[in-house]
Amino acid sequence: MPHRLTISALSEKLSRREVSAREVTQACLDRVSSVDGQVKAFLSVDAADALAQADAADRALAEGAGSSRPLLGVPIAIKDVISVQGHPLNCASRILGGYRAPYDATVIERLRAAGAVIFGRLNMDEFAMGSSTENSAFFTTRNPWDPARIPGGSSGGSAAAVAADEAVATLGSDTGGSIRQPAALCGCVGLKPTYGRVSRYGLVAFASSLDQIGPFTKDVRDAARLLTAISGHDRRDSTSVPTPVPDYEKGLLGGDLRGLRLGIAREFMVGGLDPEVKTAVDAAVRQLQGLGAEIVEVSLPHTEYAVAVYYIVATAEASANLARFDGVRYCARVEGADPIQMYERTRGTGFGPEVKRRIILGTYVLSSGYYDAYYLRAQKVRTLIQRDFNAAFEKVDAIVTPTTPTAAFRAGEKTSDPLQMYLSDIYTISCNLAGIPGISLPCGFTSNPKLPIGLQLLGKPFGEESLLRIAHAYEQSTPWHKARPPL
Ligand code: GLN
Repeated sequence: MPHRLTISALSEKLSRREVSAREVTQACLDRVSSVDGQVKAFLSVDAADALAQADAADRALAEGAGSSRPLLGVPIAIKDVISVQGHPLNCASRILGGYRAPYDATVIERLRAAGAVIFGRLNMDEFAMGSSTENSAFFTTRNPWDPARIPGGSSGGSAAAVAADEAVATLGSDTGGSIRQPAALCGCVGLKPTYGRVSRYGLVAFASSLDQIGPFTKDVRDAARLLTAISGHDRRDSTSVPTPVPDYEKGLLGGDLRGLRLGIAREFMVGGLDPEVKTAVDAAVRQLQGLGAEIVEVSLPHTEYAVAVYYIVATAEASANLARFDGVRYCARVEGADPIQMYERTRGTGFGPEVKRRIILGTYVLSSGYYDAYYLRAQKVRTLIQRDFNAAFEKVDAIVTPTTPTAAFRAGEKTSDPLQMYLSDIYTISCNLAGIPGISLPCGFTSNPKLPIGLQLLGKPFGEESLLRIAHAYEQSTPWHKARPPL
């Protein structure tokens, strides 16, 4: 069952020729056929294309290229917001119905260079707006641990596909938590890199100052390998940063965390935090302490404004970014008597209710008369949130928090109350506003039903190396990442 292996275990088998890339890819395709009727992580799969890439990987493996291409023959599935040349790019929206990407995103070019087999389009909330995949225009993805529950969002398909062993790893995007929150709810590892670490070229923009692409994997080592492959400066994304990319996998040093200081944010451990989640996170903190880390209390006093600030900044940017879907350039056009009516009909029928809500809100906060009161003020508070983190990181190397206030909720539970849905990102959003990296990894389960709980580690800008090191030490000393859903 090669599809169940981690990237690192699989790579060894591929290099030793104990399994072929075709067999691995076929195993993933078979797994999708057998379980995706329940999980619904995939919007589409092009099996012939995947197998052709696998055959090319097998030829390269036969020539001994395995050691120089760290993902050679590894099947990786992609969120429907990242461009893969010739394949559908719909952002789970009707307005992009029938659209195919004309070029590869930079991350896809890099994955191909490292030898990955790119397959499948993963479900998501429409234009990455949501926390449950219930805003997908097509269908809701199910949590592999309990199909009555949501997998989180917006990258719910990316998380569910990894948890259900339908892909060895996947890519998602994170604007306010869309990698870490679904990773937590599905029990896998999800990493949001520092803003500028990974090129956004070929990522359909939601909120350009917050968006980053990142990996979903079965363990921390795989996250390190995938991050190394996709990171680095790209002249096609002016916000990507020319900081050198370390070999993150080599940076995983083992179990000793002596000399490291970890912060607990006072403001994060209160409010609507579920008691079982709190117990698991408290135990994880003790575990990290047992590994030698020193625990220090820190304060992030502006955290309480993070959700409010996010829903001003993100909607403002989204209202501008989504203006391009006008029936002229990209999408499915609905004709009208004149151009205005054509725009109205195209956008009126093409966008779903949450996307419309965001465009209206974003347009409002940018309009003259309200700009100063909302947008400008939100930007100022964003700076205060960044300063809170700067001050905290003078005292600590990383900050430990729950990833989400509760485990996976039931499908339908929060759809009628957008505010409740927005609050499920309460612990993840400030990281994007500050531009810092964050990782979520499994730290336990609720008891009845058994659902995964996620631990979040937040790091200094470009501090992915130490984040991964801490996460790896914790993971290797606990059993959580080995658990598999009952599929
Ligand atoms: N759930 C948040 C939202 O709805 C974050 C989404 C994301 O990170 N793409 O905007």
